Amino acid sequence: MVKAGYSTLKELISLDGKVSLVTGSGSGIGKAIAERFAEAGSSLMLIDIDKEKIDRLADTLKGGNVDVSTYKVDLSDKKAIDNLWEEISANPPDILVNNAGIYPFKKLEDVDEAFLDRVFDINLKSVFWMCQKMIMARNNRGGIIINISSIEAILPFKNGLYSYGPSKWGVLSLTRSLAKDFSNKAFRINAILPGGINTPGTRNAAKGVLKLQLGLIKDGVEFLSRLPMRRLGSPDEVARIALVLASDLSSYVTGAAIPVDGGFLSA
Ligand code: NAD
Repeated sequence: MVKAGYSTLKELISLDGKVSLVTGSGSGIGKAIAERFAEAGSSLMLIDIDKEKIDRLADTLKGGNVDVSTYKVDLSDKKAIDNLWEEISANPPDILVNNAGIYPFKKLEDVDEAFLDRVFDINLKSVFWMCQKMIMARNNRGGIIINISSIEAILPFKNGLYSYGPSKWGVLSLTRSLAKDFSNKAFRINAILPGGINTPGTRNAAKGVLKLQLGLIKDGVEFLSRLPMRRLGSPDEVARIALVLASDLSSYVTGAAIPVDGGFLSA
């Protein structure tokens, strides 16, 4: 007999009837999150600067009986974010995943204002605007926000990420301050700190590094040798934790920062 007030695991993990908005869902971690959320029953709003990639993903997900819509948005452009929310705020998502991000390497002396602005606009300011819009649009109904930060926020390891690390530290700080003020209004707001995940983005970054600097290749080798699990993670291994944070499995978790990093931060 099932105890009163007891939810089964199937009920706890289900996203049936929910709508999730995932940024940067054309590739890597964002794509894997969209796939798992669809499997858990959520309809999806897929956001990316690359419309072809999200349209392709939408075609595969639609076969699975969930509603999927795609929106081409350049998240570095505040007006584009305003326009998106004008379009969707009458039916805002229940779950927002701020995943889109860039991680360009640059020597300290070569960082100029345009470069710094671009990294901060995409990695931090867009997350701020998206959280602000979500909280205003959902008012007292609450909702779930998951922000993708990075282990680099806590433990800078690779050379040349002088703008990336601070942008991701900002994401962590924003997550915690919003959780403090809005968790009593039925929001749960958490961060994931991935590290060493094998994605198209990290593979492209590695190719760029090969062209640029031997020092950065050395960083990659050192990264693996101090990584307790001695292997890179898959995007789906991040998506599974996102699903826990999006679902009632984590109904008492807010303001948390969860590393998904093969143990890197502990080593
Ligand atoms: P990825 O490059 O494979 O995918 C990122 C997606 O974001 C792409 O589809 C890209 O088109 C989209 N995007 C980029 N700029 C955009 C913009 N201005 N507007 C809209 N969409 C844009 O990246 P990934 O490796 O899957 O990383 C996803 C997130 O995880 C990023 O925030 C990254 O910083 C973070 N992260 C990744 C790792 C890792 O090891 N892969 C580690 C720590 C943190």
